[in-house]
Amino acid sequence: RAKKSRRGSFVMFSSEMGSDIRERVRLLQSLRSAVESERLFIVYQPQINLNSGKVVGMEALIRWRNEDGTFVPPDRFIPLAEASGMIVAIGDWVLRMACHELVRLQALGLADLRMSVNVSQIQFRHPEFLDKLNAALLDTGISPRCLELEITESVAMEDADFMLETLHLVRELGISIAIDDFGTGYSSLSQLRQLPIDRLKIDRAFVSEIQDGASGGHIASMVIELGRNLNLTVIAEGIEDEKQAQRLRELGCHEGQGYLYARPMTPPLLKEWLQARDHPP
Ligand code: C2E
Ligand code: MG
Ligand code: MG
Ligand code: MG
Repeated sequence: RAKKSRRGSFVMFSSEMGSDIRERVRLLQSLRSAVESERLFIVYQPQINLNSGKVVGMEALIRWRNEDGTFVPPDRFIPLAEASGMIVAIGDWVLRMACHELVRLQALGLADLRMSVNVSQIQFRHPEFLDKLNAALLDTGISPRCLELEITESVAMEDADFMLETLHLVRELGISIAIDDFGTGYSSLSQLRQLPIDRLKIDRAFVSEIQDGASGGHIASMVIELGRNLNLTVIAEGIEDEKQAQRLRELGCHEGQGYLYARPMTPPLLKEWLQARDHPP
């Protein structure tokens, strides 16, 4: 009988697209229950000044651990959370958790750190976004100067008027803005020049090609040059070895983040890592 019903649904969803939809529905249901049973958590990856070696901040990255201990990567569930609208609540939660974490770190004397939070397009465009941002600042008491929002290049370039206005309002709060995955979209330079932003984040794909003379390396150096001309700080993501770091330094890249320095860590590990780095044995 089971076979029959399986075949029945197989007939309904005979195409690959059908099974893809079923898979998405299943994933969405388990995402709902993951949210309800608090199986989402946040890890933090340090960001380093490439010249001084000092820690300048960290990026909050969401994680989802299933009951069976397996992880669902954010690249898989964030798009689903966006399509279902759940990203608004999830994103707000990440923002608050990240602000609270920064307060805890500051209480330990780990001052002058920046907290970067990824913001999805759906979240950014939500009419209550600015209110929520304000509320998170007020409730946690963190200085807006310590908070940075990461929006991807494609999002930043879409609907220029809306973006320009919203980014200005975010900036007026004192919060800084980084353009994530830079180099993967199709930025219009004149548009980019107008955006009130602070930082360009070179996508990992280009950083990984920086050594072997592949085109990605040229893109990385172009982004750094562009940052210099527009007076923006440039941060490279996904630095995995010292050679990449060295090359980025030579090219004038200011900051970096990647497994070479640290993987994204849970709060207790982050705390240990930061303290060890602050007071080397
Ligand atoms: P992203 O914002 O570009 O984050 C960088 C990704 O590179 C992270 O993947 C990070 O773990 C990974 N990474 C960092 N250093 C290295 C390295 O040296 N080598 C390699 N191979 N990878 C490195 P992750 O955590 O899987 O996140 C993937 C994407 O999911 C993020 O890309 C971001 O777009 C999205 N995301 C994660 N957390 C959130 C969130 O709270 N809200 C939203 N809207 N999106 C999020
Ligand atoms: Mg990011
Ligand atoms: Mg990125
Ligand atoms: Mg990325």
